[in-house]
Amino acid sequence: MGCCDTPGLMPVSTAIDILLDQTTPLTQTENVSLIDAQNRITAEDIRSPINVPPFANSAMDGYALRCADLEKSRTLVLAGKSFAGIPFEGDWPEGSCIRIMTGAEVPVGADAVIMQEQTEVDGDQIIFTASATAQQNIRPIGDDVKQGAVVIPKGTLLTPREVPMLATLGIANVTVIRKPKVAFFSTGDELRQVGEPLGKGEIYDSNRYTIRAMLEKMHCEAIDLGVVPDCPEKLRQTFLSAADDADVIVTSGGVSVGEADYTKDILDQEGEVGFWKIAIKPGKPFAFGTVKDALFCGLPGNPVSVLVTLHVLVQPLLAKLAGHTQWQQSIALKAKAETRFKKAPGRTDYQRAIYRMNEQGELVVASTGNQGSGAFSSLSLANCFAILEQDRGHIEVGDSVMVEPFSAVLN
Ligand code: AMP
Ligand code: MG
Repeated sequence: MGCCDTPGLMPVSTAIDILLDQTTPLTQTENVSLIDAQNRITAEDIRSPINVPPFANSAMDGYALRCADLEKSRTLVLAGKSFAGIPFEGDWPEGSCIRIMTGAEVPVGADAVIMQEQTEVDGDQIIFTASATAQQNIRPIGDDVKQGAVVIPKGTLLTPREVPMLATLGIANVTVIRKPKVAFFSTGDELRQVGEPLGKGEIYDSNRYTIRAMLEKMHCEAIDLGVVPDCPEKLRQTFLSAADDADVIVTSGGVSVGEADYTKDILDQEGEVGFWKIAIKPGKPFAFGTVKDALFCGLPGNPVSVLVTLHVLVQPLLAKLAGHTQWQQSIALKAKAETRFKKAPGRTDYQRAIYRMNEQGELVVASTGNQGSGAFSSLSLANCFAILEQDRGHIEVGDSVMVEPFSAVLN
């Protein structure tokens, strides 16, 4: 343990290791049509059934010819045309050429295409103003993808970079891993639904909106179980039915010391759950374990803590569960502090910040100000987390700071 580690707090990396260790990827698959394949994860390697391009074709509008003919004469006779979808078929005599359009099949025997800008047309005589090298402007068969090659490995998230690739291969259906089912609810007697008036001491339940929005961005099936009051029997019933319906249960609130007792007692009886104190700010109180066959992630109640722990801790777990083998947390970049960042040593801070390129072309980062774990407003001002390492104290203007631009899940 380093000089500034706080005894009893679990480092973030240890927590992630345990979460991942307890998570077994889903294996059940579904067959979906390509139109529904976006944001799904491949359950097997996808091999190309065809060559791409399936035939040698022209990269230019111009003329297909034999280089040997051009060496003998700069003027060749036009013998036919090959357009995209309407190839030239048949023989074309020595000393002739074929008019060809981009994407059109190169006629058998042609070994070069000269672009039309390098020609002059005189009736059916084509005068070439440039010479040709073999295979010039020809896209060979299989140049992009070879038939039988693995194009998309198992465990890939299908995005606008993969779905059109599958269309190029003519693949109409894809076998994908089923989506993780995640049941979630908020706990707390003080919580009211949006649209209702607030009574004395009450606040609106915002965490369920955070959880739902992020689960959907993480491509999970989100099962909203509403708000559960701080009532042992209601909590017990909700946990048990959630465990029947879902692979993972995510809750907010009721896991910090003192008022965690209901949740803790129930989970001691119905599952195996550890109540952790993680060296992260915000987001220190976190519960993790199993309830029947479901994994359980108990997030703190404070709204910013919910977002940060979902992002830092729950996201890697869900990626592994979903079978997304190439998932990685967004990369952090080194920036220069433009403002002071207040920090005490002992925990890794995920502070809300704004990064930008300054006039000198340097990456710089400024704090959004209030970093309270309940102060959600500064999140919408921010475009990144400033990740301030566990053992660091205050960061002064000009110091180096790692910034993690908000990923797709938070945008
Ligand atoms: P707890 O962990 O239950 O003690 O909650 C910590 C803080 O977060 C308290 O101020 C709660 O009122 C607040 N909080 C808990 N749940 C929610 C929620 N669903 N939406 C907004 N704030 C919440
Ligand atoms: Mg509470």
